[in-house]
Order: sequence, then C-alpha cells, then structure tokens
Amino acid sequence: MTTEFVTPTTGASNTSTRDMLSKVIDIEGNPYKRDFPLLANNPQISFLDSAATAQRPKSVLDAQRDFYERLNSNPLRGLYKLSVEATAAVDEVREKVAKFINADSPDDIVFTRNATESLNLMAKSLGGSILKPGDEVVITIMEHHSNLIPWQQVCRQTGAKLVYMYPDKEGFLSDEEIETKIGPKAKIVSVAQVSNVLGVENPVKKIGERAHQQGAYFIVDGAQSAPHMHVDVKDIGCDAFAFSGHKMFSPMGIGVLWARKNILEKMPPMLTGGEMIESVTEDDAVWAELPHKFEAGTQDAAGIVGLGAAVDYINSIGMDRMEAREHALVKYLAEQLSQLDFVRIFGPKDPAQHTAVVAFNVCGIHPHDVASILDASDVCIRAGHHCAMPLMTWMGVHSTCRASVAMYNDKKDIDQLISGLKKVWAVFNGDK
Ligand code: PMP
Repeated sequence: MTTEFVTPTTGASNTSTRDMLSKVIDIEGNPYKRDFPLLANNPQISFLDSAATAQRPKSVLDAQRDFYERLNSNPLRGLYKLSVEATAAVDEVREKVAKFINADSPDDIVFTRNATESLNLMAKSLGGSILKPGDEVVITIMEHHSNLIPWQQVCRQTGAKLVYMYPDKEGFLSDEEIETKIGPKAKIVSVAQVSNVLGVENPVKKIGERAHQQGAYFIVDGAQSAPHMHVDVKDIGCDAFAFSGHKMFSPMGIGVLWARKNILEKMPPMLTGGEMIESVTEDDAVWAELPHKFEAGTQDAAGIVGLGAAVDYINSIGMDRMEAREHALVKYLAEQLSQLDFVRIFGPKDPAQHTAVVAFNVCGIHPHDVASILDASDVCIRAGHHCAMPLMTWMGVHSTCRASVAMYNDKKDIDQLISGLKKVWAVFNGDK
C-alpha cells in the first residue's frame, strides 16, 4: 500500500499550507480505505457521497460496541462504578470535542442529535427569546434547509424579517453584499462556513466582524466544514457553531452545538424533562448547570463515545494531511468534470476553490437518471435539491448531481465517476 509523503503540521487551517501539501499528495495511493470496513469489503464501490454522510472507520465502530459491551449504563443516573465510568467516557469526549474546535471549555459543548437540532436550538431558544417585530435575521441563499427553515419559523413567530445575502454567479459573497445586508436591524446572522452545494468557503471571519459591529449574534453552520478543515471558533469569532458527527466518521445521531457560555446561560432550554434540572417543585423547576440544561433525556452515550473515536482518528492522521488530500482530490474531480463538454459545473470556476463538493449537471439528462445509471457502475453520488431549494431556484435549476470526497477516496474513484458519466451520455445520446 502506498503511503503519502506529507509532514503533518499543527495549527489552524491555512490555505497556503494546504495548497503546498496537496501538491505532494499521491491520490493514486490510498493508505486509508483499509480502515473503513464498508470500503475495504466493497472495493468495486466509488463512494462519492460523503457530504451526505461519511463512512466510519473500524475504530469508531469498535468504540461504540465497546461502550455497550463494557460500560453500558445510563450516564449521570447512577452512583455505581459502571455508571460513573460511562459518565467519565462522555465527559472525556466533551473535552476532545472542545479541543477539536478550540473552544475554551467542555461545558460549552452541547451534544445534540445533529447539526439540524443544534441550529433549531439556536433559532428557537436564542431567536425565540430575543427577536422582536422589525428585527432582522440574515442568512445566505445557499443555506441548507437546516439553517433556513428554523429561521423562517422563528421570524414568522416573532415578526422579525429574514434577509438573504446573495453570492455572485460562482458562489462568492462580496464585501458589499455583506455590508449592505447586515445592517443596524440585524440581530442574528447565521451562515454555513462551507456550502453543501457550491462547495465555496464563505468569509466567516468577515461576516462575523460585520455582525458584531452591528450588535448581532453570529452563528456558523459547520456541517460541511468541521469534517474537512481545522475549525477554530475563537479565530472565526463566532458566537455559536453547529455540526454533525456523521459527516466526520462518527455514528449517526450525534451532533454538537458550541456557543459562548454567556449566551448559553441566557438561552432557555428547548427540550425539558429528565437529566436537565437541578430541582423541581410542583410548580417550577431550576435548570441544571451547562451543558446539561440543554441535554434533556437519555443521551446516545455510545454515539458520543463513537464521536470521540472519530476525533481521535482524525487527529491520528492530522487535519492538515486530510485537508490537503481532500483538496488534491476535489481539484482533480472538478478538473476532470470540466473536461466533459456535456457537463455543467456549479460554483467556483477555479477547481481549487471547491471544498470537498462539486455540484454539476449533465446537459439534458435529469440528475436522478444520472445517479441511477452511475449506480450501475458502482458509483455513489447524490442527486436532487440537496436540501437547498431556494438555492436551486436562484441557480435556475430544480436539482443537480453532487459528487463529494473524503480523505478515503482516491484517483480511481474519480476516474470511475468520469467513465460512468461517459456511459450515461452514451445511453442517452448513442455513441455519436
Ligand atoms: N448544514 C449543511 C451545510 C449540511 O450540508 C447539512 C447536511 N447535509 C446540514 C446542515 C444538516 O445536517 P444533519 O442532517 O446532519 O442535521
């Protein structure tokens, strides 16, 4: 098995480091697939749908199973050794996750089911308690429905107005758009760090600065960034950051919300019930300390332990190395797609500006047909609106195909897609 020659570095994401490292990455070699049982057992599959959900390495599957075999008991609900150990296992992951995104304290890490739940929590709890008629919530047209519908709903309930920032044709937000749309009425700005369709990385630091200048809270949807780049919530300067475990190799059903302590302290809980109280009387209840105030009911402790194993797996490879490999892969993917004259790519023209994702269409062929025919060549891609219907409308299409990479992909996976697309074209157009 070929190994990659890359010296791991530490520190926050830096595009010049990434670009430099990606040049020495050997995408023909693949030292990673063997870590992922589904991929190792099905070498014929080209899995290019990691933006929807990633595969899990054996270490994550083992950690989850180990929890049930060795520690299974309800964390927080017991005073016996097993339960104390289960609680410690969950607490350890909270610390790992805090470090993973450079948060100050594990107490500010709330475990949720997914990014959707984390964003709903911010919208319902923060939005629901601060927004007044005439206030504005600013998002972009490229948001996933999870960072759009919760804001639509809370705006409807409070009388606030939802304002959209629009990018240019390639998906880039201009300074002018940011400054014009985030005005004095803005109370909350919530933006995806990376678009799940266009693959662009939004200028979150700049957006955050503008939001704060105007006295607005700044929330980042990190569902498509946390799996692919160093996230440093302090460097971004955001007030809250949401992501899902399952897109970064951990089990489904585990998500994270980080928010600044003073904000979490002010926010009312979204769910109430067991585990989230300090005391209860017939008429009232006192909430538990952070983060438990937001974690009502029994948590998916095995899933949390799996998330911890996923963070360990990423750290063992090094985010710099992963990011560089994915950068080389997505660049190759976009370049190869752009050489097919029957394919239209959405998002940046420069292949290097795509983060893990390339959306495209095959001229005159419905994306669902493209995906179904590709499946016959064992190529897994996504087709549809990608939970971004307002973006589709803005782009003037109903749906697109989307290929997305993770570090376990290689050149062969992409070549398989490209030859599959040539077959798709031939099915509909003959061999002309
Ligand atoms: N935001 C973005 C940008 C996404 O890509 C996704 C998942 N496709 C989500 C939010 C929602 O993630 P989940 O379904 O894990 O809650």
